Amino acid sequence: MNHYVSHLEAAIDGTVLPFGRLANTHTGRPIWVRYHLDEVRAAVAPAAIAARAPSLWRYRELLPLPLDQEPVSLGEGMTPLLHCARLGNQLGLSNLFVKDESQLPTGSFKSRGMAAAVSMARWLGVKRVALPTAGNAGGAAAAYAARAGLECFVFMPHDTPVVNQFEAQLYGAKAFRVNGLINDCGKIVKDGAERMGWFDLSTLKEPYRLEGKKTMGLEVAEQMHWHLPDVIFYPTGGGTGLIGMWKAFAELAELGWLRAEGPAGGGLRYPRLISCQAEGCAPIATAFAKGERFAELFPNARTVASGLRVPVAVGDFMILDAIRASGGTAAVGAEAKIAGWMQRASSAEGISICPETAVCFDVLERMAAAGEVKPDERVVVFNTGAAPKYLEAMPFELPTIDKGAVDWNLIER
Ligand SMILES: *Cc1c(COP(=O)(O)O)cnc(C)c1O
Repeated sequence: MNHYVSHLEAAIDGTVLPFGRLANTHTGRPIWVRYHLDEVRAAVAPAAIAARAPSLWRYRELLPLPLDQEPVSLGEGMTPLLHCARLGNQLGLSNLFVKDESQLPTGSFKSRGMAAAVSMARWLGVKRVALPTAGNAGGAAAAYAARAGLECFVFMPHDTPVVNQFEAQLYGAKAFRVNGLINDCGKIVKDGAERMGWFDLSTLKEPYRLEGKKTMGLEVAEQMHWHLPDVIFYPTGGGTGLIGMWKAFAELAELGWLRAEGPAGGGLRYPRLISCQAEGCAPIATAFAKGERFAELFPNARTVASGLRVPVAVGDFMILDAIRASGGTAAVGAEAKIAGWMQRASSAEGISICPETAVCFDVLERMAAAGEVKPDERVVVFNTGAAPKYLEAMPFELPTIDKGAVDWNLIER
């Protein structure tokens, strides 16, 4: 056998679907990939994985691409899990970690999903891909499509960060701005599927981006020596990261790779998932507060944290199920604090903090102060992207020096 996938499964009703042919959604809702985990357990052990190259493909048996297929890769994965003592100290936390996804190809964790999705699309015979993007997904898709030799069409809202507009074109995609939101872009991709003959790579509208993003959870577990953190802060847009990590933890538990907490006989403990959204676009936090399983379209979505500007998520129930199962919560960060937190967290630790993660720090500060996160808990904040991609979020101007009359007081200030 050259892969460990057992079948695909509709997330909304459990319908079993075949693996090995192109799939998008089932009744408009996402599709899970399921594995023969007993066979994975027999085939590979954590110690063998530890000896493999530091890319997400080290978890090959837990990924859908057949073992005899070369992945479309740019070296993605195994990002550092950085202990942040100085920033932790400011927040009253002794075990604060940042999982730094800004170091991935194209400067965001979107490369994980695209590495898996584009590898699968190429294997299944796709020649053209298309997607709507709030920003980083377009750049990542364009780069991986280029690497795979596929044609790529990218549709983005007209006010998408300029760096994202540029990078999609740089990597050779046919990139377009649309005078609407990401759901309007999504409609164009859907409507064009037949006429243009492209495969829809939208978030959670094919099964494999989720599998790529799942590797964030696998990596955190491996980096913590097969223990899990107590709390995870995750900036939530379409939700693939959060859903994927929760899936990863379930698969690891079933494999028996996770270590029990506390004294002998202690059980497995899962992290509380804290889903963070910006106040200008918080459909998941709104639905969570109302106790609902499905989220309503968030009107007039507007935030400088462009990755969070997703007013409707097809995987809303999967996000909300995961948050609730984990005992976590969905919370809102203040728009006005984003630029300040980017600067504060980046300057405290030298990590390039994106606006989406700045939202997480605003939520974390509040929860730590309220005692909802305890001082010695192991907290992991995901830094999903690199700050320099967001020129629009950094409203600063450097002081200027006159080369003929250097003002040393200005420099010392
Ligand atoms: C896409 C994106 C998000 C949201 O990710 P989901 O997993 O889709 O919720 C967060 N941060 C950045 C930088 C992104 O590009």
